[in-house]
Amino acid sequence: PIPARGLVDSLDWNKGGGLLPMVVQHAHDGRVLMLGYCDREALQRSLDSGEVHFFSRSRGALWRKGETSGNVLRVVGIAADCDRDSLLCQALPAGPTCHRGSDSCFDGDGHAHPWLNELEALIRQRRSEAPGSSYVARLFAAGTARMAQKVGEEGVETALAAVSGDVRSLQGEAADLLFHLLVLIADRGLSLADIAGELAERHRPSA
Ligand code: AMP
Ligand code: ZN
Ligand code: ZN
Ligand code: ZN
Repeated sequence: PIPARGLVDSLDWNKGGGLLPMVVQHAHDGRVLMLGYCDREALQRSLDSGEVHFFSRSRGALWRKGETSGNVLRVVGIAADCDRDSLLCQALPAGPTCHRGSDSCFDGDGHAHPWLNELEALIRQRRSEAPGSSYVARLFAAGTARMAQKVGEEGVETALAAVSGDVRSLQGEAADLLFHLLVLIADRGLSLADIAGELAERHRPSA
């Protein structure tokens, strides 16, 4: 979405004493990356430049995210919440968003992620640690052709379940398919975010 005209003037700046919180989320997979505060100038800069700007409360100054680290956030869209006192920004990160080096400032201990992202991380972990009891580790050991075969089988099972009219079995087969697809793309060096990015790219209205 293209940032709406007049967004800056439409917000309830008084409520936050001139600063409104802005949540930044990954435009392709929805992960929450960070939260910062915007004054009017920072928001206007984000809209005009296409890179996320905040007002740094510790430094008391305009802050272009990534100005020293290079880990800028490219703005895809910015919108206000229901009562126009906070902002949600979809963005594409150039590198780790957190200055501690993780993709998200909310990647610390105890933070839950959307389950598909969690599963993707678990699959990577099984690949690197390869515990003997792990089905995923055995798939990686068996190789790409075996994973590809599983995706083919589960694809056919999903199709058959869909036409059988048994929605419950479709749910199970679609889960099998999605799981094996995650394993296969991980094996080939792709991530969910890459696939979501491909779909988002295609959705872009052509000029
Ligand atoms: P950067 O804007 O990425 O060049 O980082 C410049 C400085 O801003 C860092 O040294 C941190 O003090 C601070 N900083 C950067 N990213 C974050 C973040 N995600 N959350 C809080 N502080 C940050
Ligand atoms: Zn609100
Ligand atoms: Zn952080
Ligand atoms: Zn199946």
